[in-house]
Amino acid sequence: MGAGERSGDEFNEFCRSSDALIRYACAYLDLDQADTDWARNQILALFSLDSYGSGDGTATTASSEGDVDALLDSFLRASAGAGLMTQDDATSIGDAVMGILSSRPSHLQRRFVQMEEDQGGMAAMHWFYDYCVRNTYIKKDQLDRNPRFPSRGVEITINLVKPEFKNMKKAAAGNSTAGGYPKCTICHENEGFAGRDKRTLRTIPMILGGHKWFWQFSPYGYFHEHGICVNAEHTPMHVDRETFGNLLDFVDRFPGYFLGCNAALPRIGGSVLVHDHYQGGGEHLPMHRAGTWRTLHLDGHPDTPVEILDWPGTVIRVVSSSRQEITEVSEAIRQAWAGYDNPDLNIASQGPEGPQSALSPSLIRTDRGYEMSLILRNNGTSPELPDGIFHVHPEFYPVKQEPIGLIEAQGLFVLPGRLVSELSCLEEALVAGAGLPQRIADFSLEYDEIIRALRGSREPGKVHTAVLDEIGSVCSRILGNTAVFKRPEQTEEFLRGLGCR
Ligand SMILES: [Zn+2]
Repeated sequence: MGAGERSGDEFNEFCRSSDALIRYACAYLDLDQADTDWARNQILALFSLDSYGSGDGTATTASSEGDVDALLDSFLRASAGAGLMTQDDATSIGDAVMGILSSRPSHLQRRFVQMEEDQGGMAAMHWFYDYCVRNTYIKKDQLDRNPRFPSRGVEITINLVKPEFKNMKKAAAGNSTAGGYPKCTICHENEGFAGRDKRTLRTIPMILGGHKWFWQFSPYGYFHEHGICVNAEHTPMHVDRETFGNLLDFVDRFPGYFLGCNAALPRIGGSVLVHDHYQGGGEHLPMHRAGTWRTLHLDGHPDTPVEILDWPGTVIRVVSSSRQEITEVSEAIRQAWAGYDNPDLNIASQGPEGPQSALSPSLIRTDRGYEMSLILRNNGTSPELPDGIFHVHPEFYPVKQEPIGLIEAQGLFVLPGRLVSELSCLEEALVAGAGLPQRIADFSLEYDEIIRALRGSREPGKVHTAVLDEIGSVCSRILGNTAVFKRPEQTEEFLRGLGCR
């Protein structure tokens, strides 16, 4: 027997589970029958094996056909059982095997284009999303376990997987690497990269504004079909007139998606600032559905409504079916905001580190045409609020300490996983009529407010509702913290200052 040869029941189980995965890949991942021996040999090569036990053909795992998580789990357990790997290697080996069984990027891209020609851009995106779930790049199983509920006009999700960044600098650093290969976590060179377990990552090329970009789904998305659109070049984030054109190009091709961009400022969102990218996906978020407080029109643009949203953050929505109109009006507002100062409201466009006012645009298509929401952001600090005047204020840190980026500014809050146990501890104490437990002593503000709302009731159903309501209320107030204009009249005054009537 050679060094790489094996035999025995455990080894046969490994071979059977490999065959089950290969059959799955033929059924769901576009693996050609002609490539099955090749695929099996790639899997053997992973373990430096040069023999194969009794494969099975038909007998096993009929019940888990089609369930890739179950098949992969069986495969990994069989690999460990046969002494081929340790549990520590499970993530990396799983990624490697699924990478082997997934189509080459070029093959998927051709299928995408074909489907788009036959059935349209949205059908192609839905198909591509399903593919990325089936090849395990998107961790759908884990996403479906994240709690999500509406409350007080916003949507709350609790992300059980993503680590919490309490420090804003760390959040920014966590997403970038100092040079090296690939230059950062979203560079195109990550496609299939073993160094970050991205062997299953697949991307779709895009042309935005005449330049090369690409789309990829997020493995731990925050909402339905959440993905990012990334510049093919590793070039810094920026928001200008060109950005509006890029967003328009995208929604023209994928009208069921929104696409938006984080403000190009540090400490706003945990976003990768070193590499230009947008975020979007298949869901309209609460801000997109927000009503209008007042409608104005910019001089010279009588057919393009400029709406001040009835929303806790400061958002101006420009509506038009003309690309030209929506771009001109949005750009006028962008430029005016970038240079706006108002000491009475603590708004300074320039700070010690340079410009500190920017906006986050987000675009959808509706029966009214294009709707470009412009979220006004400012990064100024004060001695009282050294982490940011228009950022989450410290009294809300127990619920959310991370910077508020594009997704949250649009009313979808992603809260840290620790809240699951903290909120259930809070609920138990309220039902028991006990004081605030020491373990969650930080939650005194929330505890006091819930006690007042309950008016003496300790009924479990009511307590549960009151806790969810309180979390929504806190998130809504956090959006209020980020508002540069605390009252809509102030937003109106700003708009009138730049020629809106
Ligand atoms: Zn990059």
